[in-house]
Amino acid sequence: MSRHVSVPEKWDLEVDFAVAGSSAGGLTAACKAHELGLSTVVLEKAATLGGGTAFSGGVIWIPCNHHMVEEDIPDSRQAALEHIRYTSMGRHDEEMLATYLDKGPEMLRDVEAITPLRMQPATTLPDYREYLPGGSTGGRLLAPDPLYMAQLLLDAESEYPILSKIRRSPFPLFSAVPLPTNDPRFYVAGRALIGGLLLGCIQKGIEVLDSTPARSLIVQDGRVIGLRAEREGRDFFVKANKGVLLATGGYEWNAEMNKRFMRVAEIHGITPPGNEGDGHTMGMEVGGAVALMDLSLLMPTVRIPGDEIDGKPMYRIWQFNIGQPGNILVNKEGKRCCDEAFYPDIGRAFESMDAQKLQPANLPMFWIVDQNFRDRIPVGPLPKGTEMADWLHKGDTIEELAEKLGLPPANLKETVERFNKYAREGLDPDFRRGETGYDKRWGFWPNRKPNPALGPLDKPPFYGMQLHVGTVGNMGGLVTNTNAQVIDVAGNPIPGLYATSNTAAPLAFGLAYTSGMVGGKAMIFGWLAAQHASGITSEAAKEVAKAPVPGRQVAAREAAGAAIAASGQAAAGNKLVSVGESAPVEAVRGKGIRILNEDGSSVLDLEGIEKAGDRLCMKGRLMGSFSTNMYIDATGFYRMLRMLIRPSTIVFALLSPVYWLRDFYRSRSK
Ligand SMILES: Cc1cc2nc3c(=O)[nH]c(=O)nc-3n(C[C@H](O)[C@H](O)[C@H](O)COP(=O)(O)OP(=O)(O)OC[C@H]3O[C@@H](n4cnc5c(N)ncnc54)[C@H](O)[C@@H]3O)c2cc1C
Repeated sequence: MSRHVSVPEKWDLEVDFAVAGSSAGGLTAACKAHELGLSTVVLEKAATLGGGTAFSGGVIWIPCNHHMVEEDIPDSRQAALEHIRYTSMGRHDEEMLATYLDKGPEMLRDVEAITPLRMQPATTLPDYREYLPGGSTGGRLLAPDPLYMAQLLLDAESEYPILSKIRRSPFPLFSAVPLPTNDPRFYVAGRALIGGLLLGCIQKGIEVLDSTPARSLIVQDGRVIGLRAEREGRDFFVKANKGVLLATGGYEWNAEMNKRFMRVAEIHGITPPGNEGDGHTMGMEVGGAVALMDLSLLMPTVRIPGDEIDGKPMYRIWQFNIGQPGNILVNKEGKRCCDEAFYPDIGRAFESMDAQKLQPANLPMFWIVDQNFRDRIPVGPLPKGTEMADWLHKGDTIEELAEKLGLPPANLKETVERFNKYAREGLDPDFRRGETGYDKRWGFWPNRKPNPALGPLDKPPFYGMQLHVGTVGNMGGLVTNTNAQVIDVAGNPIPGLYATSNTAAPLAFGLAYTSGMVGGKAMIFGWLAAQHASGITSEAAKEVAKAPVPGRQVAAREAAGAAIAASGQAAAGNKLVSVGESAPVEAVRGKGIRILNEDGSSVLDLEGIEKAGDRLCMKGRLMGSFSTNMYIDATGFYRMLRMLIRPSTIVFALLSPVYWLRDFYRSRSK
């Protein structure tokens, strides 16, 4: 990457607002900037779109969001504030936190109005530690409405083939969970979040250029006025009159930066390999300060030979296998070291130091399971049962397995015996696994007694393997203010430069992580960056948002004055799917629908459908994961029916009872 780029004689493209990175924050910003009258471009380094967000659950954390209000789920700004203050361990910034909480609900409502994205609250998915002050038992976390978004995006794909460029994981990320997320046909979770935002961009006529990495910022008289990118093997200069947004993700694939900033020597990215900290470097080159660089969403991974992404070796996420009954993690002493059902605690164990030996206390770490586990849950690419692979070790006794893994046999035996004794009672006095609502949610069988997260390892043979330290995102990054402007080392905003996604430090919440904060932060601060770059005050932006959708750009131009009007784009031709206000529910009894996975877990368990004015309220569990009410308009309902009558779905539905019966008889004969 070149370090200093002078102003080129000729620009290849001139826009108001240039976004680097097709992350959720980047795409949100692009849509908002366009709404406010700015001509906008999105540059993406990879040939595929959506980055690590496309791999994700697509969950965002927005306290007091309007869906909670619609569904009568209680929450308060004060409670959310208290929760972050209590759990951030003093590393958040009060002003950034206030902005997150105040602007989050506004951003969500606006994004649902200006893009086809529709979110729904995960009503029973709690904050990680919901029992701590200000914690919530559900509703703050939202995920893309799976049925509505999946069908909408599938339908849109034929008209907008660029949607099919949204990243798909090279192997099932949720490997133990046979979710449709793993099925390339499906737009759910992170693919639906990116899909909704990308469709918004495309429908507005915003150019999204893949295979075009941003390389350096161009500064004139102290202001960032554009950037140098690469396109088709040559320099591609983009002039950005109102600003450049860096939304290039984290730096987890940059080994050198990991070594400089992280507390663990070797970390493997579970995001796409383009997340090498390009935005961090570009920001630092022009004087940007960085913060919280040692913060990462560490997760256990395994190396399965042949697993690759974009031609590079990839470590497979292993978290979804862990925390189920019948398995534990142990350190090199053969001793447990964390609450296996709570990945942040595994991250803490990865980073712990042995104060006597001045060595990592728990590395390498090992995963130990029994045959009961293997009878119920696939192990990566290995199906349920007894099939083996080179990367998995087996022992007829715990001691034999310990020998094979190089662990002290007596220690491992003692560890398993102690764990088993309490697990049978549903208890874990050592690490309190399975005590919280969040821990219990990991269990694939939520009704399992006495505890869905606990069960003994008592059926031989036993299996084990070494784990590696992975991450779903390094979170530290450029210091930004409440307008998402990058701050320099002297504390001043760098004119024309903005950052969001994991490229910006999470100053709004510090160490107070709950699922969805990465996505929430990325979208809120991307949205604010667009607003600030447009020069429109937040009050004026609210007025623009109130204007009818087709007239919004006119309103934006009026609010922003002649400068923006001169560079604005035609609003005509925008095809927007807007979300209507919710109507009161008028209950009508409906019939349930159930679709099962091969292993008997439910993909869709629709308990009932109720008519609510011109809308339908559907209640049930989706993918064994969410228990929720879905509001869907009549068009959405017909879309869902069309999805259900797709030939592949019919085959799937017909085969499900067969698989279920087969498994039922197998389990009875064991
Ligand atoms: C399995 C899994 C589940 C997860 N679940 C959740 C969840 O539910 N909620 C949540 O909040 N987080 C979740 N995460 C974490 C989060 O999704 C990741 O940390 C994600 O990478 C964060 O995205 P981002 O916004 O930082 O950028 P990304 O989505 O990673 O996007 C960055 C983009 O920038 C591009 N880029 C990089 N350099 C350049 C350049 N020089 N020029 C142009 N483009 C560039 C990259 O190619 C990439 O497309 C999950 C992660 C995983 C892997």
